[in-house]
Amino acid sequence: MKLYNTISRAIEIFNPIDENLVKIYTCGPTVYNYAHLGNLRTYIHEDILEKTLRYVGYPVKRVMNITDVGHLESDADDGEDKMLKGAKRENKTVWEIAQHYTDAFFTDIEKLNIKKADITARATDYIDDYIEFIKGLEKKGFTYIANGNVYFDITKVENYTKLSGMDIEQLRTASREDVSVDVHKKNPQDFVLWFTKSKFENQAMKWDSPWGVGYPGWHIECSVISLKNLGEQMDIHCGGVDHIPVHHTNEIAQTESYTGKPWVKYWWHSEFLIDQDGKMSKSKGEFLTLSLVEKKGFNPLAYRYYVLNSHYRKQLAFSFDSLDSAENAYIKLKNRVKNIKENAGDLQEVKELSPASKSYREEFKACLEDDLNTANAITVLFNVLKADDIQNAEKIKLVEDFEQVLSLGLMKDDETEIHDDLAGYVEEMIQKRQDAKKNKDYQLADAIRAELLEKGIALEDTRQGVNWKRIN
Ligand code: AMP
Ligand code: ZN
Repeated sequence: MKLYNTISRAIEIFNPIDENLVKIYTCGPTVYNYAHLGNLRTYIHEDILEKTLRYVGYPVKRVMNITDVGHLESDADDGEDKMLKGAKRENKTVWEIAQHYTDAFFTDIEKLNIKKADITARATDYIDDYIEFIKGLEKKGFTYIANGNVYFDITKVENYTKLSGMDIEQLRTASREDVSVDVHKKNPQDFVLWFTKSKFENQAMKWDSPWGVGYPGWHIECSVISLKNLGEQMDIHCGGVDHIPVHHTNEIAQTESYTGKPWVKYWWHSEFLIDQDGKMSKSKGEFLTLSLVEKKGFNPLAYRYYVLNSHYRKQLAFSFDSLDSAENAYIKLKNRVKNIKENAGDLQEVKELSPASKSYREEFKACLEDDLNTANAITVLFNVLKADDIQNAEKIKLVEDFEQVLSLGLMKDDETEIHDDLAGYVEEMIQKRQDAKKNKDYQLADAIRAELLEKGIALEDTRQGVNWKRIN
């Protein structure tokens, strides 16, 4: 199996540290708001990575953190505590906010057929471990205290920027947003391990520590949670490309300083989903969520299908138009499978795959082993469905097999024809609106139009009747 490794900047043959257990760590969600479609794109590709490894025969253990500590936007204390901001916005406690969005995250990933990590760890459950970890770094001389906060001194590590390959100057520019000037730092890239001083007097999550009451810095959870659950070395560490210059760079600096060992063998990063304005972000107010996708009448799995048709190392520009095309293709695919299944006879009859089927399976596997080329793997699936050298029952066996990785819900008969359902619903609403107009109940007619608009459906009155279309 071949995988691109960010740290070597090359595609490498994947060779796990221990064949008997591939260890993976995936940076999880910050839970002060819903995950956006970009975050979910990364989780879908990580799901493909894990399922591919299992498919080719490796046992896997995957760990994911849930960032439920409110983090500042920067070490310089001039950002906002996002958790607190969420709590204020919704009139809830920070703990309620974290729980609500953690649940929402699990609902989203379930709808997208993303397997939960084997271990999901909440950042706030590891406070004592962070303290032990910082004490260890302190003992080895990697830290200093300034203005009440404990900092990590990046000049104490060799090759601090080895992951990004940037020089320090480049890094400063790349991460300006994250590492704005903090007068207490010795070097601009130094980062806080433990805060006691914050301009937020009402910082809601605080714990006692040898350095005073405070809270952990924003990189420490991933280092400590992975050390605790996966040991001192692991095979693959995953995340979005935004994490390369700062978050993962700092994770490496502190973890390798703590253990004195190389930490991660393969660094895996997924490219961004972008919207019309460029980068997608949670802090922009209205943003793209899976609920919005559903509200507009799309099947969440059509989003998965859409994502799998692109490569994880390429940016993907999102639009509802392209999602619409993807959903059309997805529904056709699903109906195709359904049709073949209905004409497949008894699947039990298939004792062993024919040589033709086996070679399709090999082809499918080869696509995934080629740095997770999901788009090509889907092409193989289409080729199977239209093949004239294999029987229907074997085709269905192959779909079942491919679904271990693709997880597109192709073998389920439910939730098909969402399009038709949507059309039916809209037509019904249009009829109601026409009736309302006939009865001169213009208020109701307007309310119906507004309700549809909220669901992303625009009505247009023409001489021939009412047309409707989906809008973004
Ligand atoms: P966050 O909840 O912001 O910490 O992000 C969760 C995961 O989504 C991380 O792995 C990020 O790197 C990743 N991510 C953030 N924004 C995007 C985006 N626009 N497209 C793809 N992945 C993203
Ligand atoms: Zn992380």
